Amino acid sequence: MAQHRYLLPEERIPDRWYNIAADLPTPMPPPLAPDGSPLQPEMMTAIFPMELIGQEVSQERWIAIPDPVREIYALWRPTPLYRAVQWERALGTDCRIFYKYEGVSPAGSHKPNTSVPQAYYNAQAGVTRLATETGAGQWGSSLALACSMFGLECKVYMVRVSYDSKPYRRVMMETWGSTCVPSPSPETNAGRAILERDPESTGSLGIAISEAVEDAATREDTNYALGSVLNHVLLHQTVVGQEAVEQMRMAGAEPDVIVGCVGGGSNFAGLAFPFLAEKFAGRDMRIVAVEPAACPTLTRGHYGYDFGDVAGTTPLLPMHTLGHGFVPPAIHSGGLRYHGMAPLVSHLVHTGQVEAHAYPQRECFEAALGFARAEGIIPAPEPTHAIRQVVAEVERAREEGAARTILFNLCGHGNFDMAAYESYLSGRMVDLELAQEELDRAAAEVAGMPAVG
Ligand SMILES: *Cc1c(COP(=O)(O)O)cnc(C)c1O
Repeated sequence: MAQHRYLLPEERIPDRWYNIAADLPTPMPPPLAPDGSPLQPEMMTAIFPMELIGQEVSQERWIAIPDPVREIYALWRPTPLYRAVQWERALGTDCRIFYKYEGVSPAGSHKPNTSVPQAYYNAQAGVTRLATETGAGQWGSSLALACSMFGLECKVYMVRVSYDSKPYRRVMMETWGSTCVPSPSPETNAGRAILERDPESTGSLGIAISEAVEDAATREDTNYALGSVLNHVLLHQTVVGQEAVEQMRMAGAEPDVIVGCVGGGSNFAGLAFPFLAEKFAGRDMRIVAVEPAACPTLTRGHYGYDFGDVAGTTPLLPMHTLGHGFVPPAIHSGGLRYHGMAPLVSHLVHTGQVEAHAYPQRECFEAALGFARAEGIIPAPEPTHAIRQVVAEVERAREEGAARTILFNLCGHGNFDMAAYESYLSGRMVDLELAQEELDRAAAEVAGMPAVG
């Protein structure tokens, strides 16, 4: 009988995170203060605890995971690695396809891997309330979960279009004791300014971040938490890849290709970074980041410094960007609709260590249906992009007469995303390509920013 599932015992939950900054062949450009001057870590203490600021700038290769965090990880970690035996048969391929499944967390995605340590370090620092933004609701629900476990209050600014179309994610947050309001909201200066100009605004992650940062910066008891993009978030996600390295060893397989979808870059980094360490050491493998054609940050965006939010209150980050004023079209992959990209992922794409591809959403759902009918798990809309790329890799291997080993991150399940599947199945889903004028607008927006390197 073919083996489908590779499980690690509980004591194999990683006891440290892997910090790729220690191993980069070329160093990262630094973040800058909003006025372009060097960023001092102290400038971040209004919204982040010192432990997380230290991790953000750390050059140490390994950072110990605190025991209380590992204890909560043990509720769902180590997560399973599957070999997609049934899907391989359905595709008629000689390639071996493996996937790491992060949908077994209570929130249904990889995000609690970082929400739990973030809540923990804030609680340790005496903070009693966290403010954050959420797009599709996965981050908001993951932070709500973590805050309930460490006794913190939590306020979530949810992008209006998702607040209206995904009510169950909001109910999840409320079930875990958090408060969730649609963004733009009348509760912050940033939100009021947007609503004055456009009362019908459907919101964006950039707007919601401005609101949450303002909330945290103006309240003594409150810090801010971000679910992707920043170095410390990607760091926390490396538990995924560390487990996968061991599980691939159990399976007697070495990946030739590693695939992950990218919104801000955290699930991709979590799986890929521990393998990238092997690539830096000389092992031949391709590492592929996949994004929606409607929000093509890596494949069509500008690489340079930009703000993380629409109001221009965050530090300037060196990243691929569609401009901080970007309001993405309302595609179903809410988690992939951010204007920027993790500086670490941008840097790796810029230096040729990582490839990037983009696909329109219908062919992603088509591929996901094939996957779901063979493997059973219904993927979240975001990882359907990774699944689409795996299909492309299978076709490429067939053309080249090679059988490859492919590993991808199935970073969440889609059980709250039936509206997206409904839209695909009923034929109402449309593909949106980003217009060149949007890209030109973005280029003009970042024209005055400092260049990278
Ligand atoms: C948030 C989310 C994403 C996008 O964020 P990344 O930081 O790029 O991982 C992708 N998939 C799922 C399931 C998410 O919840």
